[in-house]
Amino acid sequence: MSVVSTAVTNTFAGGPLDRCSELRSNAEWLAEQRVAPQSRIVAYYRLEPLVTRGAGGIGWLSPDELAIYPEADLPRIFLGKDDAGVAHFAVDVSSIEDAPSQSPFRDVGRFMDLRAIALRLPVGDPSTLATGKAVLDWHARHQFCAVCGTQTEMRDGGYMRKCPNEDCNAEHFPRVDPVVIMLAVRGDEALIGRQAMFPAGMYSALAGFVEPGENIEEAVRREIMEEAGIKVGAVHYHSTQPWPWPSSLMIGCFADAESTDIVIDDELEDARWASRSLLTASYNGEQGTGIILPPPMAIAHTLMKAFIEQG
Ligand SMILES: [Zn+2]
Repeated sequence: MSVVSTAVTNTFAGGPLDRCSELRSNAEWLAEQRVAPQSRIVAYYRLEPLVTRGAGGIGWLSPDELAIYPEADLPRIFLGKDDAGVAHFAVDVSSIEDAPSQSPFRDVGRFMDLRAIALRLPVGDPSTLATGKAVLDWHARHQFCAVCGTQTEMRDGGYMRKCPNEDCNAEHFPRVDPVVIMLAVRGDEALIGRQAMFPAGMYSALAGFVEPGENIEEAVRREIMEEAGIKVGAVHYHSTQPWPWPSSLMIGCFADAESTDIVIDDELEDARWASRSLLTASYNGEQGTGIILPPPMAIAHTLMKAFIEQG
């Protein structure tokens, strides 16, 4: 099959802020922006962002509102500037005891699981929050130098950690883990699978981490063979999605199947060929299909929608 690359913007992509990476190393400018009255800061408590009541938007705070808490205790990430040139930051307030019931957080809204609220937020906000979550999580997990074990220091607005050991000086950067997620296609059917942990009836695209020394096509072929025993040939890129649990990049593809018989491995509870008409019926919410598709937030949903629309 031929698949055209699309202008799809998957949830958690398409953020409105200019990341201004050239400004990250400008410590003086960053220090000014951290306290500038117009700057905006989103707080995270245990990696859950502060959103306004009803999850109508990000619960932005001003530096003044956060001034009651010691700056040094709160790791702060530079997210970028908006169209008006206002600097935006993410801050981890997990060290503040019982932060959800403290001012200014409770005055603004609630800390909520990003996955639960992403689709209720205005376009662009999920991407901004995904960036903050992924980078803050990386700092929380990478406090010590992987080379020499010394405690490292945050630099470049949160986009680097530097080892202060003069014999080492290693620089560490936030990691992004590439994951291939794909539908193998055979004529009018697509290969879908489910893991035991999925909600009852839900089937999704197959997926797996890209390994060192592999390109995307090879990872797609290996994963489909490992998980479902299906041989695939040509691989077609569709779109990608940042997925901040903890920091993956989902690479959505289609793949031309060259065999038919499914042999599942331990990762899957079931895999099957699903016809376009069955997937269309499920997509349209018809009863009795026996299949529930992933929610619109997931790139697997985007891939299934694209497959349906090619019919
Ligand atoms: Zn080191």
